[in-house]
Amino acid sequence: MTASGRSLPWLRDKLRQGHPLPKDKWVEKVHGNGEIHSFHWRDQRFERRTLLALTDLTARRSEKNSAMRIALCLPSHRCGSTACYYCKHLYWTKVRAKAAAASAGLRRCEMSFLTIIFGAAYLGIPQAEQMIDDALPVLARALRWKCGIKLIGRVELDYLLRGHTLKRDKRRTFATLGAPTEGDVPLLVPHLHALVFHSRIERRLLRLKLSRHFPGYKRVNLKCLHADKTIEENLDRLVRYPLKFLPPDHGQGTATSAELRFGLRANEELGGLHGKLHVEFGV
Ligand SMILES: [Zn+2]
Repeated sequence: MTASGRSLPWLRDKLRQGHPLPKDKWVEKVHGNGEIHSFHWRDQRFERRTLLALTDLTARRSEKNSAMRIALCLPSHRCGSTACYYCKHLYWTKVRAKAAAASAGLRRCEMSFLTIIFGAAYLGIPQAEQMIDDALPVLARALRWKCGIKLIGRVELDYLLRGHTLKRDKRRTFATLGAPTEGDVPLLVPHLHALVFHSRIERRLLRLKLSRHFPGYKRVNLKCLHADKTIEENLDRLVRYPLKFLPPDHGQGTATSAELRFGLRANEELGGLHGKLHVEFGV
């Protein structure tokens, strides 16, 4: 129980009844109608689902403590969790400001959105972490090739449950990485999503360079900003994109509480919002 008398049964009761948490009331007070951005309700819904899993009777004590920290996240004591819709927004605000600074004076063709699949881990969190630790220095070497390249992004961890089905291209990519492709084991797929600012080099050449550093079928995707959106709209969306933290069943409701908890644990063990999953270069 906290100093304010709030306890796990209090939280379970709030979640089951769909009642607002203290943070919702604070957000509503500060942000008017309570909606911070267009994905606000999706993020809040996924946060509540994660909280329900963390307060499950089978959860570890540390997970129940995390649930209370996330539920009681307020300006005086931010939780910093990847599951917290407000801490994600605060992280977005900081990264968005860096993206604005990095993009100043650049033309649309000098900015790109990069995705790199680092690997597909079938041996759990340590293997996924090793893939990230191996990939980041390779990325830095590729970017050091020409001066002035800047990158701001985030490693997202897709958690594919046992029984998943891979589309043809993904199956081929995973096969070239030596990962299982039959869906018979759960996979953690660390992959980078990043904005790249490259005023001194064409996108085509940068793509070639990155693909050489990360060989494999369709492992690297470097594409232009969305043509139907302004640069500002692109930066807003693309900085938010790797912050989705979708449940492993993508909202279908089929993942178990244990699977939801594992999805969060994988992120938190790698440092949560501010640890090694945050990636920047040259900014
Ligand atoms: Zn928080």
